Amino acid sequence: MRYRYCILGGGILGLATAAELLRRDPRARLLLVEKEPGFARHQTGHNSGVIHAGIYYAPGSLKARLCKAGAEATKAFCRAKGIPFDTCGKLLVATTPLELQRMEVLAGRAAENGIGIEPVSAACLRQIEPNVAGLGAILVPSTGIVDYRRICAALAEELAAAGAELRTGIAATAIAETGSGVELRLSDGSRIAADRLIACTGLQSDRVARMGGLAPRHRIVPFRGEYYTLPPARSGIVRHLIYPIPDPDLPFLGVHLTRMIDGRVTVGPNAVLGFHREGYARGSLRPADLADMAGFGGFWRMAAGHWRSGIGEFRNSLSRRGYLALCRKYCPSLTLDDLREPGAGIRAQAVMADGTLVQDFLFLDTPRQLHVCNAPSPAATSAMPIAAMIVDRMEEAA
Ligand SMILES: Cc1cc2nc3c(=O)[nH]c(=O)nc-3n(C[C@H](O)[C@H](O)[C@H](O)COP(=O)(O)OP(=O)(O)OC[C@H]3O[C@@H](n4cnc5c(N)ncnc54)[C@H](O)[C@@H]3O)c2cc1C
Repeated sequence: MRYRYCILGGGILGLATAAELLRRDPRARLLLVEKEPGFARHQTGHNSGVIHAGIYYAPGSLKARLCKAGAEATKAFCRAKGIPFDTCGKLLVATTPLELQRMEVLAGRAAENGIGIEPVSAACLRQIEPNVAGLGAILVPSTGIVDYRRICAALAEELAAAGAELRTGIAATAIAETGSGVELRLSDGSRIAADRLIACTGLQSDRVARMGGLAPRHRIVPFRGEYYTLPPARSGIVRHLIYPIPDPDLPFLGVHLTRMIDGRVTVGPNAVLGFHREGYARGSLRPADLADMAGFGGFWRMAAGHWRSGIGEFRNSLSRRGYLALCRKYCPSLTLDDLREPGAGIRAQAVMADGTLVQDFLFLDTPRQLHVCNAPSPAATSAMPIAAMIVDRMEEAA
């Protein structure tokens, strides 16, 4: 079988990229291969469901640009497909004088990124969110919530209607690049050939890049994002999404209160080192994943630089009381009994050999392959413009 394009990965990036390719080249033969029995089974299906506005990112950066464009594209896609979303807005709450200073920096960034925000005094905060306490806050009215699994299902439907072949429950197990394309072996024993391969394989992306003959200088380190769900009787506790002011030295946003589109409210996620790239249960460990990490010098350099925050995350992961203390800083009425139904998502965090956590998108390519090697949050929000960028990049290289 020969295809024009083969996409690996049925998360939001693989599906959005496939859809973009077929919009531009409707007659192209396209195959999408996903190793799980359905779409969005890893990062995309375990995320917080937030359509980020993009206030955190350095003005002019790719992340800032793609997030703003992505939020608009996501909402437009949902409107066109009848997928529910809610532009409920988000409050970033400062609870210490240091956080107030950091909040001012964020407000400046939002202005430079062209994102409307409203300053909220402590008194006003009490009025609009009686269960939230802080020294001040900023309101980002354009932040929204959605179920990204619904978006993936709609993309898959669009692809099938456009004639794409979608194979689930099948993994790519070998990739060989030839002068005219790529040849792949799949886990069902079949072989296929394609002119171009695009791999959006998230937590496995470094391994899939190596499978394709590339020599990535980074390794994926899994970071668990553990969360709890409030009991239904407490889901009216907040009207907005409530976020702490993030520590600029850490790549994650801090434990937040998230309203989900199905009416639940979750508390989390944190960011704890994981020992199993795809093991969602607490305490999951896969020896091969652990060995991969332990054999990578960048992991130890990262650990040396972040051991203090890492230990704090482990402590709060093991103790619900510690976790609760994080949330009570801005939502003091939460109790231990509110932290129910633990769940987790796992972030694919690329770490470089020098121990740096890659904060931006990372792509590696060859004449016939493009591998998305780091697609951190807000990549679900930004998926549509990222897909357009991937296709532009491939067209330029052709
Ligand atoms: C806890 C958490 C909260 C988050 N919250 C948000 C948020 O609120 N808003 C936001 O914008 N972003 C958020 N993100 C980030 C966002 O979810 C991810 O950046 C995004 O989903 C990445 O999509 P992806 O398609 O690259 O990866 P994935 O969704 O992980 O998809 C990769 C796919 O590749 C498949 N695959 C792997 N190897 C193979 C192979 N050999 N053959 C075939 N298939 C293969 C996997 O099975 C998987 O389905 C969050 C992430 C996490 C983990």
